[in-house]
Amino acid sequence: MDESVNSQHVDIAIIGAGPVGSAVALGLSNLGLRVVLLEARDNLRADERRTLALSHGSREILETIQAWPSHSPTYIKKIHVTDKGHFGQTILTAEEMELPALGYVLKYNVLVDAMLSALSNTSVKIETASPVTEIKTSENHAEVVIGGTHPRSITASLAILADGGKQLTASLFSITHDSVYKQVALVAQVTCSKPHEGLAYERFTAEGPVALLPFEDHYALVWTGTQEKITHLLSLSESSFLNELQIHFGYRAGEFLSVGARNSYPLTLKVVGNLTQPHLICIGNAAQTMHPVAGQGFNLGLRDAQTLFDLVKQFSTGGLGGQAFNEQYQRRRRLDRGFGIGLTHLLVTGFSNNYPIINTLRNQILFGMNLVPPMRRMLTKVMLYGVQGILK
Ligand SMILES: Cc1cc2nc3c(=O)[nH]c(=O)nc-3n(C[C@H](O)[C@H](O)[C@H](O)COP(=O)(O)OP(=O)(O)OC[C@H]3O[C@@H](n4cnc5c(N)ncnc54)[C@H](O)[C@@H]3O)c2cc1C
Repeated sequence: MDESVNSQHVDIAIIGAGPVGSAVALGLSNLGLRVVLLEARDNLRADERRTLALSHGSREILETIQAWPSHSPTYIKKIHVTDKGHFGQTILTAEEMELPALGYVLKYNVLVDAMLSALSNTSVKIETASPVTEIKTSENHAEVVIGGTHPRSITASLAILADGGKQLTASLFSITHDSVYKQVALVAQVTCSKPHEGLAYERFTAEGPVALLPFEDHYALVWTGTQEKITHLLSLSESSFLNELQIHFGYRAGEFLSVGARNSYPLTLKVVGNLTQPHLICIGNAAQTMHPVAGQGFNLGLRDAQTLFDLVKQFSTGGLGGQAFNEQYQRRRRLDRGFGIGLTHLLVTGFSNNYPIINTLRNQILFGMNLVPPMRRMLTKVMLYGVQGILK
């Protein structure tokens, strides 16, 4: 896996072996192209305890690239959406969509392991301990400068930046939206007195959304609040924490019985406006880093990856990263990205306050969705497949 690149020129260089970079590498792996995956870390295993919620659409993409984990995930069969202190609510169900599940919850590490295992059966060259320090673009190719213990540079017909939105993205692309939400996410596993039966909860509160995702025999909790609130919650004893959670969330899921390790994550929105430069494209969190409220970050990044490997199939090697290629990529991603980013931002800002007019409006939306099945089904399709889901 750690073989160095034999040639100074490759067809495609992917920078960043996170889940999105790995997915695009897998999608490109059987096209007869020379593909190299460059990762700054010295090993590819993920050291993350959190879970990920993947939509049914993401499962379909992962299956096509042989990266759907064999270890069975927990099925989300229903999603109960409520607004704390108000009557508006709606329930989305897999049954209504005639699907086995609306989504799946699995450990981040399990997904990464499935991708690594799939990659080990391909010709993709993976270079770890290879931090990319610079990418220089020109009319014919991108030059990728690699630091670390073996500094070198390679040229690529197409460089795909999937660094998760780190320094390289900031140095190469202009960020059109860069806001730090006044919210932090607390993530933990909690057990409850009632079995979950595949039911997920998304509850909007004036302080920020709270999600409970069914996972194995318990729930994965994502609780967003102000920095002060989350610092306070992290400092509490287990029983005091459970008590506060019970008051905040209510008894819909039963009584909260225990909580595992609690971790917190800052929440930001960073959006790159123009995603391309000659022979260079940015995807995944590099292109958009979003609030996890609707669990859309990786799902959207995976659709970036799919668009890219579908597009590469249509172009000859000579056309990779050229003007026509780049324009098509931008055009194909515009609506889905715009909608995913906009919806997530609206859920955070429009559902995390107590302004009377906005309260009334969001309650009417939740009521309307419950009463008008076509509206509910349309939203569910967008959550499952992105904007193109409307056409399904
Ligand atoms: C609390 C929380 C909960 C979430 N829950 C969900 C969810 O339920 N569902 C969902 O869809 N999404 C969720 N997300 C979002 C999801 O985790 C991200 O969208 C996804 O991990 C992004 O993957 P990526 O590959 O684009 O970036 P990353 O995972 O950040 O990977 C980037 C990779 O690039 C490498 N790298 C960086 N710089 C360089 C360099 N210069 N040279 C070489 N390599 C480099 C890094 O080491 C890393 O391996 C959540 C996020 C958070 C914070």
